[in-house]
Amino acid sequence: MSGTLRPIDLVSQPAPYPERYKILQKLVVLLQKVRPNAAGGASKLAIGLEGRVAKTSSSSQSYRFNMSVLFRDLSKHKGDLTKIRIAQKPIVSASRASQGNISKAAVMEKLKALLHENSVLEKNGYIMRNVTSESAKNALLGAHETCARCNTKFERASIMKKTLCRYHDSKKQFDKVTKSYQYPCCGESTASTSFLRLGCKTHKHHVFKPETAEALSDISEFIKTSKIRGEENVLALDCEMGFTSLGYEMIRLTIVDFFTSKTLFDEIVQPLGEVVDLNTQFSGVSEIDKQSSLTFQETMARVLSPKLINANSILIGHGLENDLNVMRIVHQKIIDTAILYSTGRYKNSLKNLAFEFLSRKIQTGEHDSSEDAIATMDVLKVKNGIPIDQKTWD
Ligand SMILES: [Zn+2]
Ligand SMILES: [Zn+2]
Repeated sequence: MSGTLRPIDLVSQPAPYPERYKILQKLVVLLQKVRPNAAGGASKLAIGLEGRVAKTSSSSQSYRFNMSVLFRDLSKHKGDLTKIRIAQKPIVSASRASQGNISKAAVMEKLKALLHENSVLEKNGYIMRNVTSESAKNALLGAHETCARCNTKFERASIMKKTLCRYHDSKKQFDKVTKSYQYPCCGESTASTSFLRLGCKTHKHHVFKPETAEALSDISEFIKTSKIRGEENVLALDCEMGFTSLGYEMIRLTIVDFFTSKTLFDEIVQPLGEVVDLNTQFSGVSEIDKQSSLTFQETMARVLSPKLINANSILIGHGLENDLNVMRIVHQKIIDTAILYSTGRYKNSLKNLAFEFLSRKIQTGEHDSSEDAIATMDVLKVKNGIPIDQKTWD
């Protein structure tokens, strides 16, 4: 037994020192058995536990009784400290026991160090500058658009007229064995002579995705969050999008608090344009009830607020430029896991990151913006040594 093993000195000793020392030695032996990997070693933990019992025991009789209860509970719960109470008080919270606690200030410091420079954000498709309505007017949406699915040029004004759009909903991939391109959605090869080569899916309208700042702000103007003063919060954000007569729009928005993992906002949103395709297979949104759902303007009025998204918010997302662009938000403090945890030309998918770092399977069917927002946040936590189950912060 090492020389550092000695009971904590107390003003009022509940039992003679040699007795406490003997009990402490026994406690170390038990802890070595039930908690072989205790942080700081079994001795340190034993000294702390015995000290707490000694402090809360008023007589030698109660000290012996309380110590025997501690021995019994440690054996019974196989050293699980979350189940142990001394003087009716739990000695440790569940999250502290599993991973060790971290302060909010320390987390904020870690997160601030991860914020991206404006130039990085711009390179990744974020709109960072003020798009004035004047510059937007000079670049009105084209009279013609190219279908984002089948590449056909079509007249924008007649997007709601029925036509036939034939497409694949996955990108072609090179097959090394057959040395040809194939579509993973149906296995069709680009060299096939079947008409299915043109697409395994059909839709009665073409679709388009405006991407430039001007085209986007022509539909709805961007709002700078710097105008909204509010609390320094950390929010994970995820939108589901669908195609409408005005392009690609937000149809569901989820906002989750980083510290509590609580969903602060989760609503189906009515887009500005007429629905062309809700993209249900990916978005998970199968209908938008005009009576019960919020309009785009109502949604933005609710979420751009001192308590939610404001100038001081740190916004977390995966490929967050897509979300912020459909929301028409210009924001500075951003942490994007697609930028942080990708190498090379292609961005790593959230599905891959969640599987690799959380052993969690997401997006196995329809996407769920709430599940995606939480997975993004948890990937960031795991990669930065922040416990994902910690719910209380100092
Ligand atoms: Zn296909
Ligand atoms: Zn098309």
